[in-house]
Formats: sequence, C-alpha cells, structure tokens
Amino acid sequence: MVINETIGKCCSEALIFVWTRLDIKGEFWGISLIKEWIIMYDNHAIYFPPDELASVLLPVTTGCWYNKCAYCSMYKDDDYSEISLWDIEKELLNGPPYTEKVFLTGADPLWVGFDKLRKILALIRQYLPYCACVASYASVRSVSKYTVEELALLHNEGLRLLYIGFETGRDEALRVMRKGHTAVQAVEQARKLNAARLPFNTIVMYGIAGEGNGEANAAATADMINQFKTNRVITMNLTIFYGTELSKMVERGEFVPPNSKERLVEIRTLLEKLETTERMIFDTTHPTNIIKIKGTLPEDRVRLIREVERYISKRMVFV
Ligand code: SF4
Repeated sequence: MVINETIGKCCSEALIFVWTRLDIKGEFWGISLIKEWIIMYDNHAIYFPPDELASVLLPVTTGCWYNKCAYCSMYKDDDYSEISLWDIEKELLNGPPYTEKVFLTGADPLWVGFDKLRKILALIRQYLPYCACVASYASVRSVSKYTVEELALLHNEGLRLLYIGFETGRDEALRVMRKGHTAVQAVEQARKLNAARLPFNTIVMYGIAGEGNGEANAAATADMINQFKTNRVITMNLTIFYGTELSKMVERGEFVPPNSKERLVEIRTLLEKLETTERMIFDTTHPTNIIKIKGTLPEDRVRLIREVERYISKRMVFV
C-alpha cells in the first residue's frame, strides 16, 4: 500500500495518515479495511496510536464531536458523523477473518453510546471470531456517559483497552486548553473504569501548563494518576500547530511555551512523583517527545530518571 503522506508530525496522541483514494493500493495489512471505507468517506484523516499499527482499523465516527481543545488541529475541517451499523457491517464483511486486534477509529468512538457500541462489538465477534482485543480512543466526557455495569459488560464483550487523553491534572491548564473536564472529573471516570476492570492508557502532555509551570504541572498530574490504576502513562510533548486556538494565544502573548529544559525537568518530576504499587509502563516513545524512554514503574524509576538527567546535563540546545 502506498500512503500519500505519512507525516512525521503528530497531533495529540495519534499518528497521522493522510491519503487520497487513488493512492491507496495495498498491502499494509493494518489499514487494509480502510481501503473500502475510503471509497465511502473520501479524504478523511485517520488517527491511531503507534501501538495499534498492526491492528485492523474500523471506522466508527468521523471528525470530533467536541472539537474545542485549544492545541488540537486534527479534525478542524471534518464534520462529526457516526458511521451507520450497516456500513460498519459492510466493512467487517470484507475484513481479514483471522485478525486478532481491532482499533475503532474516530476522535472518541465511545461517544456513540452503549447500545451502538455493544452492537459494534457483536458484529466484530460475528465477522472476526479470532479478535481478542478491541481498542479505542475515549475521553473523560464520553466515559461519563456509561455506568460501571455498562463498562464491565462492554469489557466482557470484547472492548479491552482505551486510550484516554487526560493531558494534565492541573485544572488551570485544562481550562486554558479547553479540555472540557476537571481533574476531579477525570479521577472519577478513571475509577469507574477501574471498578469495571476495563484497562486504559493515560495520555498526558508536558509543556501544557506554559512557561514556569512545568514542575507544578507534573506534580498535579502525578497526583491525579496516583488516584487510579492505569496500564500505561503515555507522554506527549505540547506542539503548537498553525491555525489552532493555542497558536493564536501564543501570537497574542497569552501563552508562553516552556523551553526544552523545563519540559525535561517536567518529565523527571512526573517520574519522581508517580506512586504505584502495581506495575505501570511509563512511555515517552511517541514521535512528538523530545526524549524517548520506556520502562516499568516502580522498578525502572531510577534508570528512567537517570536517563532524563543525562539529557538535561548534556546541555543540549534548550529552545
Ligand atoms: S477531543 Fe480534543 S484533542 Fe481529541 S480530537 Fe477532539 S478536539 Fe482534538
């Protein structure tokens, strides 16, 4: 398969693949399902986490129903829509029957609600009987639509992993970035997922609190994460994309991004303050990051901190 552009730049937690219908020819198994979907929904961008590169991608929504986060440029030109069950079934009919992992695509597929999501999982079981894991993006707001019992049922029926953009535990930064939730609400929804035994990855963003606030932001974020159990903490580096509300705030002088050194100190502080008795992966390998480290807490904490300090002491160019 030839993908028109595989862009090194990344928005939020996603890798970006942009294509045109004519450029899709292929053999890239991970998005083979998309090939047909493109014909129906031409020129939409599909975003998915790097860890889902080998998963079959199943479109559930286009665009973002919320579309207000100040730093996000992903779906600005896309209208929100929900793919019909009829179309989803058509995709699955042509899907590779031996697939073991499916990733539901869209900014926040859980927004479609319990009844529809349950039907989608039933269709996946029907057409891809070897699929052992359905994963999806979700948000604090979409999880709040579900009861613990509903989440547990969805987990039993195949939904095995969520990727949630918590971004920060600092309310001021959440407000400035227009995330639409508070740290208290984030903890509440995360605990619901824990009660339902539905695993999730926690995506956070360093640099998001602006210059001078990195350490305080890391402390607040660690304090939030310390109140629930998560499989993995995935860090992102705040990136200013042209045309976003954040880029306008920077132009007006209302937001000053921290330099690289402050961002590294923020990562180190986060590592120092995360407390976990259960094993949790700490992962900064996403392409936006200024340092690529990965390990399991608590046992790798010292090694990871040492690696961050090595970067700080190298006196790389701090911009
Ligand atoms: S929820 Fe926010 S970050 Fe996620 S796609 Fe929508 S606007 Fe972007």
